[in-house]
Amino acid sequence: MTEKDKKNPVKMEDVQAKADEKNCPVQRSLVFIEEFLAEPMCGKCFPCAMGSYETRIRVNKMIDGSASDEDIETVQTIMSHMLTASRCKKGKDTGTYILEQMKSADLRDHITGTCKTGECNAFTSYHIIPENCTMCGDCLEACKDNAIIGEKVKPFMSGYMPFEIAQKRCTKCGECIKVCKDNAVKTMKTKEMAEEPVGAYRDTPLPEIEQKFN
Ligand code: SF4
Ligand code: SF4
Ligand code: SF4
Repeated sequence: MTEKDKKNPVKMEDVQAKADEKNCPVQRSLVFIEEFLAEPMCGKCFPCAMGSYETRIRVNKMIDGSASDEDIETVQTIMSHMLTASRCKKGKDTGTYILEQMKSADLRDHITGTCKTGECNAFTSYHIIPENCTMCGDCLEACKDNAIIGEKVKPFMSGYMPFEIAQKRCTKCGECIKVCKDNAVKTMKTKEMAEEPVGAYRDTPLPEIEQKFN
């Protein structure tokens, strides 16, 4: 630990306030463990020295949709040990906070393919609503990943290619939503989309579709 770190140790209340800005229990856990690991660690207690890095790996798995029940159980076990065996307040506070998040009713959704808050990108996909799209082409120019397909509207021409997002190319950066002035780009929860049959909303009025997915 440097002299500067000793003089200005991280305040756990500040870390908690930063984590509490998130709504998702997994995102909160990530903020907390990242802040914890950003500071030098003395390494005196085994659960903290080994477990905090392991926790970060497992929490990231929950965020990217590759976690299983075993990851949740492992983080719960590590945090229980940190709570009881840590010698410092910082370790105990981390154990208490993350253990609380790991008990959230919304946590297991990340194993079954959704994040209710929409904060975990892996469970959200971007789509263009054809009824709103004026084919201006702004999203096409904004997308750095070439994930948008479509033909910009031209006067006195017909047969335009409608605008769509190629899901496999989309990195979920959100730039298309920012530039679309016509409210035509929407995020939808991936699991909800997968459960609907193709064409399920063909005859549904747009306001009802928007209400369902937002
Ligand atoms: S819990 Fe505290 S005392 Fe123990 S290794 Fe971690 S930082 Fe050091
Ligand atoms: S920016 Fe919006 S309205 Fe323009 S082409 Fe893209 S989705 Fe359609
Ligand atoms: S979210 Fe980003 S990568 Fe995906 S279509 Fe929009 S601009 Fe392209």
